[in-house]
Amino acid sequence: MRFAILSRSDNKSEVIKSRVKQYLTDFSLEYDEEKPELVISVGGDGTFLEAFHTYKHRLKDTAFIGVHTGHLGFYADWVPEEVEKLIIEIAKKPFEVVEYPLLDIKIHPVDSEQYQQFVALNEVSVKSIDSTVAMDVHIKGAHFERFRGDGLCVSTPSGSTAYNKALGGAILHPSLNALQITEMASINNRVYRTIGSPLILPKHHVCELLPLYHDRSMLITVDHNTEEYANIDRIECRVSDEKIRFARFRAFPFWKRVHDSFISDERT
Ligand code: NAP
Repeated sequence: MRFAILSRSDNKSEVIKSRVKQYLTDFSLEYDEEKPELVISVGGDGTFLEAFHTYKHRLKDTAFIGVHTGHLGFYADWVPEEVEKLIIEIAKKPFEVVEYPLLDIKIHPVDSEQYQQFVALNEVSVKSIDSTVAMDVHIKGAHFERFRGDGLCVSTPSGSTAYNKALGGAILHPSLNALQITEMASINNRVYRTIGSPLILPKHHVCELLPLYHDRSMLITVDHNTEEYANIDRIECRVSDEKIRFARFRAFPFWKRVHDSFISDERT
C-alpha cells in the first residue's frame, strides 16, 4: 500500500511523522506523496483540513486518518501514545472505510457562464469586507428570505462541530446526507426579516446565495482558505456527490467524540 504523511510541522508532529514513516517503510509499505492510498495527518483538525485539500482531487482512491498532537480533534482522533498500535493495524490488514458527506460550492460570476467550483470538508462562509452582507437566499429554486447581517455559513455534518457550532448550529451526525445554513448576526426588524434559526437541508435541496450589490466585495472562506470576490451572481451550495473516506481501525463513535471534545475526556 502507498501512503503519505502530512504534519503540522511543529517538533512533536515532525518526530511522530518520521517515526510512522520509518516503521511503515520497514513493513514494506511505499511512501508516495503523489498517489497515496492512505494519508496520515499528524497535528490537529486544521492539519487534517490541509491534508484533505492536498488530496481532494483523488478522494475515490485515498483514505484519511488523523493523529493529534494537541487536544482531541474531530478528524484527528488517534493519540501519539497509540502510534505503534496504529502502525501495526495499518501494516497487517485491509482497513474498513467510513464515508462522510462533503459540500459542493459553485461561485457564478455576473458576466460569465464559467463558474468556480470548490469542495469543503467543514463549511463555506460568506461575509462582507466593510458593511453588512445583503443576499437573497433561495432554496430549491424558490426565494426563501432576504438576509442582511454579518454573513452566512453553510456547513457539512462533520463541520457542524466547528464554525457552525459557534454560530448556534446543531451538531449533525455525519451519516446524514445534509447541509446546514447558519446566520451570523442577522438584522431583524420591521424592514428586514430572516428565519433566525439554523436550517438543515437534505441532499436534493440546493441552496443559493444571491448578493444584492454586485460591486461590493465579499470574503468567501472554504474551510481554512479565504478569497475576496466581487461581481458574484450567486453562490450555489449542495451536498456533494463525493465523500471523504476515513480509514477506521477501531470503533470511535461520533457521539463519543462529541462528548470527549466538548464535555469531558475523563472516563466516568
Ligand atoms: P483556526 O482558526 O486555527 O482553528 C479553528 C479551530 O477549529 C481549531 O481549534 C480546530 O481544531 C477546530 N476545528 C477545525 N475543524 C473542526 C471540526 N470539524 N470540529 C471541531 N473543531 C474543528 O483555523 P484552522 O485550523 O485553519 O481551521 C479552519 C476552521 O476553523 C474552519 O473550517 C472553521 O470551521 C473554523 N473556524 C471556527 C470559528 C469559530 O469557532 N468561531 C471561526 C472561524 C473558523 P485544531 O486545534 O485541532 O486544529
